[in-house]
Amino acid sequence: MKLIVANWKCNPSTLSEAKSLFNEVKKRIEEIYSKKNLNSEIVICPPFIYLSELQSSTYRFYLGAQDCFWEEKGAFTGEISPLMLRKLGCHYVILGHSERRRYLKETNQMIAKKIVAALKFRLRPILCIGETLEERKQEKTAYILKTQLRESLELVISYKLSVSNLVIAYEPVWAIGTGNNCSVDEAMTSLMFIKRQLLNLYPKKNPNKIKILYGGSVNSKNAKEYINVGFDGLLIGGASLKSREFIKIIHFIQS
Ligand code: PEP
Repeated sequence: MKLIVANWKCNPSTLSEAKSLFNEVKKRIEEIYSKKNLNSEIVICPPFIYLSELQSSTYRFYLGAQDCFWEEKGAFTGEISPLMLRKLGCHYVILGHSERRRYLKETNQMIAKKIVAALKFRLRPILCIGETLEERKQEKTAYILKTQLRESLELVISYKLSVSNLVIAYEPVWAIGTGNNCSVDEAMTSLMFIKRQLLNLYPKKNPNKIKILYGGSVNSKNAKEYINVGFDGLLIGGASLKSREFIKIIHFIQS
């Protein structure tokens, strides 16, 4: 089962646009499903304020959030808790996206707490990891991936939580929103490296259950290549805002 996640980021600007994009995608997924067995799970992650308006009861079509706080409730102005998200019908939550790391200074330690909170409320965390252009130039990709994994999963490991609901998204930061997608060979090297790290972190569990996605300028022309080399799915930003393009990607993954 492949996992295709749409990250709408801070888009679109109005609820009516959000509803029409969501409903178009939903309708097409229902059509695909009525013709053949949908072999992917599709997750739409809109801005928080649209979540309650975009409920889905469609098979294998889920809602996700783009972040959450690590506490359940209380005096945390501006934050949204995993419990609230769960009650709104969310199944997934993106955590540690590079834009949050960059603009909001999120650290691996903050992300570690969010992952534990998400799992507690039965939200599937999608942990984003990836190197910046500068780190790549300095050949630090392996070090960055290893550190982000170890520090972000530290609490999951120490609390001995199940890993079966975890999702990792490998997103080279330099490939996000640039149109400059990572070559399949380079992405595959990182995929293998991530798998090895997960085996080191979870020697007694079965980390093969953890889905690993690729994200970074995915479109309908390159999407299938990442699946062919072993990624379990995709995290898609820009292309998920164009319903036709997004549906094309889903079609290609099906074929
Ligand atoms: C993202 O937002 O995680 C992302 C991968 O964006 P894009 O597909 O636009 O590069």
